[in-house]
Amino acid sequence: MTKQIAIIGGGPAGLMAAEVLSAAGHAVTVYEAMPTFGRKFLLAGKSGLNITHSEDFSSFAARFGTACAHLRPALDAFTPDDVRAWAAGLGTETFVGTSGRVFPNVMKASPLLRAWLRRLEAQGVVLKTRHRWLGFAENGYRFETPEGPVIARPDAALLALGGASWPRLGSDAAWVPWLRDKGILVADLRPANCGFDVAWSEAFRERFAGEPLKSVSTTSEAGTFQGEFVISKHGIEGSLVYAHSAALRDRLLEKGHAALAVDLAPGRTTERLARDLGRQDAKASFSNRLRKGAGLEGVKAALLRELVPDANRMPPGELAQLIKALQIPVLRPRPIAEAISSAGGIAWSELDEHSMLKPLPGLFAAGEMLDWEAPTGGYLLTACLATGRAAARGIEAWLRHR
Ligand SMILES: Cc1cc2nc3c(=O)[nH]c(=O)nc-3n(C[C@H](O)[C@H](O)[C@H](O)COP(=O)(O)OP(=O)(O)OC[C@H]3O[C@@H](n4cnc5c(N)ncnc54)[C@H](O)[C@@H]3O)c2cc1C
Repeated sequence: MTKQIAIIGGGPAGLMAAEVLSAAGHAVTVYEAMPTFGRKFLLAGKSGLNITHSEDFSSFAARFGTACAHLRPALDAFTPDDVRAWAAGLGTETFVGTSGRVFPNVMKASPLLRAWLRRLEAQGVVLKTRHRWLGFAENGYRFETPEGPVIARPDAALLALGGASWPRLGSDAAWVPWLRDKGILVADLRPANCGFDVAWSEAFRERFAGEPLKSVSTTSEAGTFQGEFVISKHGIEGSLVYAHSAALRDRLLEKGHAALAVDLAPGRTTERLARDLGRQDAKASFSNRLRKGAGLEGVKAALLRELVPDANRMPPGELAQLIKALQIPVLRPRPIAEAISSAGGIAWSELDEHSMLKPLPGLFAAGEMLDWEAPTGGYLLTACLATGRAAARGIEAWLRHR
């Protein structure tokens, strides 16, 4: 029998659930607070929509860290290959980039989102924008709409409200206290894939904010990764920093201090650097010694001097070690509003095997609002799509057995 299902939140997780449930013949309404759907999805496409990753599946799943065990059934049922096939079914062919990341041929999200919304409408999904969920009503859900307050009393509902990054795109985490009031455990939302504040001197900030540090290697408890990052006016940012952000954030919380170690000359050994620096004329300027002996100039040389002002007095061996492991002390993560994603969310212990909130029968949850995090690389969207799908299957199963 056809059931009424409310999907609250029209991002990738909610739209995927709407697709599955409408295809199964249910009457689905998607309630979205913003004037249009999938704003964060569209923004993700601005810099090249990295929709999934092509690495082997067990490595892929391991990127979700401690949440891997909880996400695994959803990921098993909707793998990165499935993501690619699904996108192709909507007319968006994808390719594997040199890093193994998967992108649409057109790089953007807009053609995919347009085709997706068309498919949902064709399947009978009612798409309501400017419908903001305001919390619970007796046996229902309260919405603010252009026509005034509305209470929906569906047979089942899915929360797919996203995390807390970029709140101006719609996911503002207003739901956290409403669920906590119902006794649901929600881990604090914290910035993930974020930049960090660093106490730059005024002179360094003015001269180098916006400059990339290219071809460096960086190390934290997360591991060692090569690439580039950017000096910002507040500190450091960019994909190489994001790869360390969970480790740096958690260490700051635990110990009160953390540093990112940078190898400014990953192509040269410490021994070679020490030898080449030792060959430089002791009377030459420090800039010249760094340039000729270590190949360092511009922002790299300036960073070294900024962080270790008396580096010029170091003997070659010590200077070589510094160049190979320059510590950038980070003060705090940048605010969650600037982060790519958020960690924390609804605790897994609150969900049953159908993605239903155990204390609130008939209410399900999916996407970034669940307590997991992952690096950038297409992992975030894949998990949002997969958990949206899993929650839809959970809703079907629950409605069948009710
Ligand atoms: C700049 C940027 C770039 C990114 N790039 C990538 C990338 O390349 N690859 C990748 O995998 N991931 C990327 N991400 C992350 C990815 O976009 C998110 O993880 C994903 O969109 C989360 O999906 P979701 O459906 O859980 O939530 P969201 O996409 O946040 O959708 C939630 C929806 O719920 C709505 N909503 C919230 N509260 C209410 C309410 N009270 N009532 C009604 N509706 C409400 C919101 O308006 C929103 O539309 C990027 C994120 C950012 C910010």
